[in-house]
Amino acid sequence: MLDFAMTIGGKHVAAAQTFAVHNPATGAVVGSAPNATLADLDRAVAAAKAAFPGWSSTSDAARKEACAAIAAKLGEHAEEIARLLTLEQGKPLNGLGSRFEMGGAQAWAGFTASLELPVKVLQDNDQGRVELHRKPLGVVGSITPWNWPVMIAIWHILPALRSGNTVVIKPSPFTPLSTLRAVEVMNEVLPPGVLNVVTSDDQLANIGAAMAVHPDIRKIVFTGSCATGEKVMMSAAATMKRLTLEMGGNDAGIVLPDADPHAIAEGLFWGAFINSGQTCAAMKRLYVHHSIVDEVSTALVDFARNIPMGDGADEGSILGPVNNKRQFDKVSRLVADAATKGRVLLGGAPGKGLFFPVTIIADLPNDAALVQEEQFGPALPIIGYHDVEDAIRMANASENGLGGSVWSPDIAAACAVAARMECGSVWINKHGAIQPNAPFGGVKKSGIGVEFGEEGLLEYTDIQVVFS
Ligand code: NAD
Repeated sequence: MLDFAMTIGGKHVAAAQTFAVHNPATGAVVGSAPNATLADLDRAVAAAKAAFPGWSSTSDAARKEACAAIAAKLGEHAEEIARLLTLEQGKPLNGLGSRFEMGGAQAWAGFTASLELPVKVLQDNDQGRVELHRKPLGVVGSITPWNWPVMIAIWHILPALRSGNTVVIKPSPFTPLSTLRAVEVMNEVLPPGVLNVVTSDDQLANIGAAMAVHPDIRKIVFTGSCATGEKVMMSAAATMKRLTLEMGGNDAGIVLPDADPHAIAEGLFWGAFINSGQTCAAMKRLYVHHSIVDEVSTALVDFARNIPMGDGADEGSILGPVNNKRQFDKVSRLVADAATKGRVLLGGAPGKGLFFPVTIIADLPNDAALVQEEQFGPALPIIGYHDVEDAIRMANASENGLGGSVWSPDIAAACAVAARMECGSVWINKHGAIQPNAPFGGVKKSGIGVEFGEEGLLEYTDIQVVFS
């Protein structure tokens, strides 16, 4: 049984109470996490506030170096944190699992370290000089989900630190341990108070909600569900916090009639089932032209059958369980309903514990709950269409707008369809491939603002224009 402390002001801090974290593959207790009180949160925010003047006035080169050192630390501890992540999250060590997540965390940290925040000269003539400066905000509050906990923590923390802010992060109650450990190792290369972590079971105190109203937090960066993101936005109004909200998605994929079913099967599979479907920008609905819908479905099922699902700690597993009971129950409900409306081609019923077999259901009407709601699990609905205009209309008939994809060998035709999709990212012949130099974010109810690249970094700054 593993025990971790919070890191506040550079010190290990225990809470008066702890809560147990369970392994979704076995149900066993992995370890215990501190269960923070509101007073613990205040201590963490005070530490971050006290560290801000020093960190924000540290030279740009030194901050860059510290961020690069974080990337190196993550690399050094990658295997250790990957194992912890597998134990609490369930994702396999292999495949697109924990080792992949740690590789991503390191890559994002390294790239973010290299970004620049130059002063922009807007005017320099005999009328005067006008410069646009970017200033850090102060204390940034980061609230993260349980699906890619370490990578998302890095997505929040690195641009905040790179641009001179200090941070208090609060991970999900389902996956606090890998974040506690990652923050601990990152603190080895940071001044005390620059990066702090508090963990909570969300019951003793709702720390996330308290962060959203905290007077000394200047910005919230939140990744999680739409329902919680809306609450954060409402709560943040009173203190006029800056917000980056990365929320839910119900991404559509559209397969055009000239696609080769065998050539696209693998890409479709990973687009939908990466991390057992527990990925914000996974493909959650698949629209296929009626002329090839059976062939595409068969090719997808044939590929899916060969992907081993099991305990993530087993080196042979490529997919793992659903992370928690709440999510497992949601997937079970949506699949049970879909099974009465469509044709189950694979899976279709809950497995043991939190394992839900890869499920593919065809012939579904577009109004089935599995199509309309975000399943966030290993179940993909396939909907046939006759006219591409109908496919585009159904894809866009959603409150969400995170990602989308179009599948065809005719790239120009695919791009023309892609341009009409209402989403923040759109891919051709793949789905969900993100990279640190390309801004990522949702439109409509999938969120506000973007992460990654220069645009992502700028969200951690205020503008100050200097007229001289
Ligand atoms: P969630 O909204 O239940 O929890 C997210 C975080 O918010 C957790 O840390 C939780 O403790 C905290 N929280 C709970 N109540 C709060 C409150 N009142 N105020 C502030 N914070 C509060 O989401 P989840 O189940 O952990 O994550 C799954 C969801 O996240 C899915 O909808 C998925 O699409 C989304 N997601 C989006 C992205 C993206 O980049 N757009 C990435 C990953 C996950």
